[in-house]
Amino acid sequence: KTIRKAGWNLDNSYAELPELFYSRLQPTPVRSPRLVLFNHSLAEALGLDGQALQNAEGAAIFAGNQLPEGAWAFPIAQAYAGHQFGHFTMLGDGRALLLGEQLTPNGERYDIQLKGAGRTPYSRGGDGRAALGPMLREYIISEAMHALGIPTTRSLAVTGTGETILRETELPGAILTRVAASHLRVGTFQYAANRGTREELRTLADYTLRRHFPDAADEDNRYLLLLREVIRRQAALIAKWQLVGFIHGVMNTDNMALSGETIDYGPCAFMDVYNPGTVFSSIDVQGRYAYGNQPHIGAWNLARFAEALLPLLHDEQKEAIRLAEDEIANFHELFEQQWLSGMRAKLGLFNEEEQDQSLVDDLLRLMEQHQADYTNTFVALTLDRQEDDALFASSEFTRWHERWQERRGRQHESLESSQELMRSSNPAVIARNHRVEEALEAAVQRDDLSVLQRLLAALANPFKHSPEQAEYCQPPAPSSRPYRTFC
Ligand code: AMP
Ligand code: MG
Ligand code: MG
Repeated sequence: KTIRKAGWNLDNSYAELPELFYSRLQPTPVRSPRLVLFNHSLAEALGLDGQALQNAEGAAIFAGNQLPEGAWAFPIAQAYAGHQFGHFTMLGDGRALLLGEQLTPNGERYDIQLKGAGRTPYSRGGDGRAALGPMLREYIISEAMHALGIPTTRSLAVTGTGETILRETELPGAILTRVAASHLRVGTFQYAANRGTREELRTLADYTLRRHFPDAADEDNRYLLLLREVIRRQAALIAKWQLVGFIHGVMNTDNMALSGETIDYGPCAFMDVYNPGTVFSSIDVQGRYAYGNQPHIGAWNLARFAEALLPLLHDEQKEAIRLAEDEIANFHELFEQQWLSGMRAKLGLFNEEEQDQSLVDDLLRLMEQHQADYTNTFVALTLDRQEDDALFASSEFTRWHERWQERRGRQHESLESSQELMRSSNPAVIARNHRVEEALEAAVQRDDLSVLQRLLAALANPFKHSPEQAEYCQPPAPSSRPYRTFC
């Protein structure tokens, strides 16, 4: 196949699945497309010609007004289901369209999805559209996660539509161009298990294996391997979230990607003060998706994935359930391993000792007790700096600090290499809520993107512990009202 204008090289392997899994349709054109943000380095990595796209034609493509020239592939909306806050629902791309899969110069395959591209057969009561603020927010936070080394979907562009959409108030409309290893979700399998035949479920599983776990694709026990690998990737992913204090906010099973990427940035946010009960999402009134609950929800979602896979795991249901339960039971240990090894790195520890778990637990307990800033506490330890806060002033913390120094002294590595490990494991800059809000306000209310561009630049180098990043390291001023995020 020839590579088309501007580097487009779109395939659509998903559309080779049974028709049950998607609907073919065109994006709904918008009034006046305008590129608000464009990610040049990502474009380059995808083999796209950024110069040829950062213009009116690019805006038309990223708004869905025009399809990439010569692309034989066609847009689809994907069908899926999901447990939303524990309740099972039929869903699907209600406002997103998959333009196709870009085959990169490295031979990789990435979904190019337009989020906010208009109504689809899965829109239910929705308008199929998205507002500028939340799409900019997804761009900022997904790119911040990428820079932190956390698997995530990426953001290629945000395009204003020139139309307003109606939420509680009128808001400017926008479309996000999202790039993902795929959009296969736990919910895609739940949909297959509910709506499809066993053969359709098998076809979906084989497709997922070929796309994400090619080494297992021909194995006899490949569906069990699929379950095992998805569990492994989610354990690793959620451990990374916990380590940086990221709260996804809406861990419904339709928002859990089988690739192991973080997906669907809605009411997500980074925690400031350490507290396992932290919830930002306005709709999460029960705290189901609180920071400290994320690993449990991960396991719960994976159990839903395992249930959907049962017919493929074994001909006898009892045996299938036993196999699935054995795999799910591993999640917590896999998670704990990943998490503890990440915590060791955050504390500059190379080797393992029995008491490391309690060393970490005690620090976290003190942080919670003294309402210490999660990120800045680790940065202070990294830079050997005294924080001017209640934690550092407490005698319990002084004793903890001595214990930690002794622990560090019992490893062979030098203090310098321990500090180096800490510098690369403890971000200085996270996407703090007040800075994100400030950037969004300037962009949406005043059409001023400079604040957002500066924030993006800082977030691109989160492990740079330098004075010029300092302003982005400030925790928010104490506020009488807790911070709230909205979908
Ligand atoms: P989310 O909470 O973003 O994961 O979305 C949950 C479901 O609602 C998905 O099926 C979305 O496609 C759908 N959805 C969200 N917003 C809209 C909208 N404005 N119009 C149509 N569908 C939507
Ligand atoms: Mg979603
Ligand atoms: Mg969404």
